[in-house]
Amino acid sequence: MSKAENVISDIAICEDCRQMTANATLGSEDHEADNAHAEKMVALWGDGWRIVPPSGDGHFSDRWCDGCGSQLAGDRYVTEAWL
Ligand SMILES: [Zn+2]
Repeated sequence: MSKAENVISDIAICEDCRQMTANATLGSEDHEADNAHAEKMVALWGDGWRIVPPSGDGHFSDRWCDGCGSQLAGDRYVTEAWL
């Protein structure tokens, strides 16, 4: 894997974003929901950034999701984004 030119570390993403980064789907058969979620992430990050699938455990937080902008409190997973 080539080294990323830019890295943003210590971002915190929600469970839905974790599923999208790891599996490119939210895990249901609802592909409209998958596309809607992906659009939220692209709206925040553009096409160039790639959010690395988190490897650690989640922790409850009311911080906004850095991946999709969700304001819903819930589990957040710390990871980083590469450009
Ligand atoms: Zn999210």
